[in-house]
Amino acid sequence: MDEFELLLDLHKGANRQGPGGDSETEKAIGLAGIDRNASLKIADIGCGTGASTLTLARLLNANITAVDFLQDFIDALANRAHSNGVDEKITPLCASMEQLPFEEEEFDVIWSEGAIYNIGFEKGVADWKRYLKPSGMLIASEITWLTSSRPSELQDHWNNEYPEIDTASAKIKILESSGYTPIGYFVLPEHCWLDNYYEPMRKSFDAFLSRNGNSEEARAIVEAERHEIELYKKYKAYFSYGVYIAKKLNE
Ligand code: SAH
Repeated sequence: MDEFELLLDLHKGANRQGPGGDSETEKAIGLAGIDRNASLKIADIGCGTGASTLTLARLLNANITAVDFLQDFIDALANRAHSNGVDEKITPLCASMEQLPFEEEEFDVIWSEGAIYNIGFEKGVADWKRYLKPSGMLIASEITWLTSSRPSELQDHWNNEYPEIDTASAKIKILESSGYTPIGYFVLPEHCWLDNYYEPMRKSFDAFLSRNGNSEEARAIVEAERHEIELYKKYKAYFSYGVYIAKKLNE
């Protein structure tokens, strides 16, 4: 297996592929003022194995198109939708967030947790706007600096990983200049990282290593994930995911 296949193998059995939480998804629904009884069309972009998709399906009267470019994640999501009894509300779709097969103004809501960085926040919010109905809502979580300055080890790490990382005020400014009205913002709390994402991942390391013959490549992946976990624990005062809620302007 190459590195990509190993990463897929590590993550595809997980409930989520990034920090988040069911109650935080529900909180964002509340802040966005989404009517739980209205019949809605939602796109969940970069859905992974569907943590947020399943919560949206459970709480809303919606049809959710769940998009990811990895077929293995889409298959896992489809199985979970079936076993949760919500498959009628979910349309799984294997597609790239850079080339979405959507119609203009097709959706009431665009949802994206821990994924918009793959296209870049600024490009994502600009590109995806066309798929939202007038006054449609965008809800996206994005890695965010919590302070105006930070230690150089951390700054260097993120400059390398994702140079678009910035403060909430900078992200909100991007929303304003991209044709949205910012409606709400909150920071994902620590349990979204540690209890919901890193701890289940850490518990899966032994099985992952033994299923992959304890190979050097598999060990390198575990080491890289452990390093990321340590970096989070050391510097969690300085960064988290911000959840951004914005309404499309009627231009
Ligand atoms: N929303 C999920 C997954 C977050 S991880 C959760 O919160 O658990 C980011 C996801 O984006 C992964 O599932 C990855 O496969 C997907 N992704 C990355 N690049 C993509 C692209 N270009 N198009 C579609 N999905 C992409």
